[in-house]
Amino acid sequence: MLEECWVCPRHCGVNRLTGESGKCHITSQVLISSYGPHFGEEAPLVGRQGSGTIFFTYCNLRCVFCQNYTISQLGEGSPVNREELAKMMLSLQAKGCHNINLVSPTHVLPHILDALELAVGAGLYLPLVYNSGGYDCVETLKLLDGIVDIYMPDMKYSDERTAEQLSGIKDYPEVNKAAIKEMHRQVGDLQLDKQGVAQRGLLVRHLVLPNQLAGTEEVVWFLGQEVSTNTYLNVMAQYHPCYKAFDIPLLSRPVNKQEFYEAIELAHQQGLYRLDRYHFPLPLRFVPR
Ligand code: SF4
Repeated sequence: MLEECWVCPRHCGVNRLTGESGKCHITSQVLISSYGPHFGEEAPLVGRQGSGTIFFTYCNLRCVFCQNYTISQLGEGSPVNREELAKMMLSLQAKGCHNINLVSPTHVLPHILDALELAVGAGLYLPLVYNSGGYDCVETLKLLDGIVDIYMPDMKYSDERTAEQLSGIKDYPEVNKAAIKEMHRQVGDLQLDKQGVAQRGLLVRHLVLPNQLAGTEEVVWFLGQEVSTNTYLNVMAQYHPCYKAFDIPLLSRPVNKQEFYEAIELAHQQGLYRLDRYHFPLPLRFVPR
C-alpha cells in the first residue's frame, strides 16, 4: 500500500517507503503529537477513566478551519517507531483507559496495524477506536473488518463545492457516505456496556459550521434514512474560526445558538435520538440577542 500509496482516497501513488510523501506529508515515518487519557471525548468513550487517545500528526484532509491545525497541517509532533507506538497503546491500557482512540489514523493505517500486532501480542485487549475525518476508502476499510471495534468518522459536508473549497476534496460527500455505510456494515449501531461505556459500533461526529456550510440537513437525512435511526451522533457546537478560516467571510465567526439548535432539531426530525450530551459552550458575547 505504501509503495504506490493508495491508503486513502487521494490515491497519490507515491512511494512512501523511499521517503516520498503525498498530500498527507507523511513518508514511512509516523509522527505523534501527544497521547494520554482524554476526558473531552464523547461520553461513551470517556466513561470514568478516560479515552486513550493517540494523536497522529498530519492528515489526509486540508480543512481551512481545522480546529487542530497545528497538528494536522503544521506538523507538530515527534517520530515514533512501531515498538514505541505499541508501548503507548499498552501504557494507555495500564492507566485504565476504556479504549485506544486513534485520532486521524487514515494516512498512517499500515503503521498502526504494524504496531498493533506487537501490542496485541503483549496483551492489548481494549476496543480500538478509528477516529477519522471520514475521508476513507472502502477498500482500505475492508482490511479493518474484525480489527476496529468502534468507528468514529466525521461527516463534514454534504455539498461537493463546499468540500472542495474548505477541504480541497470535491468528492468528500460521496466517499464519506460510502465509508460510513461500510463502517456500519462492519460494526453496526453503537453498543454500550452496563456502565454506558462503548464496546463496538458506529459513532458519527458532525461539526456544525456557520451559515449552514456543513450541510446538516442532508447529513442527518442520510444517517436517518440510509444508515440507521439508532446511529449515535455527536452534533458539535464548538466551531470557532482559526487557521485560514478568517480568509473566508462565511466561516469567520463562531456558530450561534440558533444554528446549533436548528441542527439538533433537524436530527430529531430524521428520527435520530441517540445524540451525545450537548451543550452550547459559546461565551455570552457570541450569543445573538
Ligand atoms: S495516505 Fe497520504 S500519500 Fe497516501 S494516498 Fe492518502 S494523502 Fe496520498
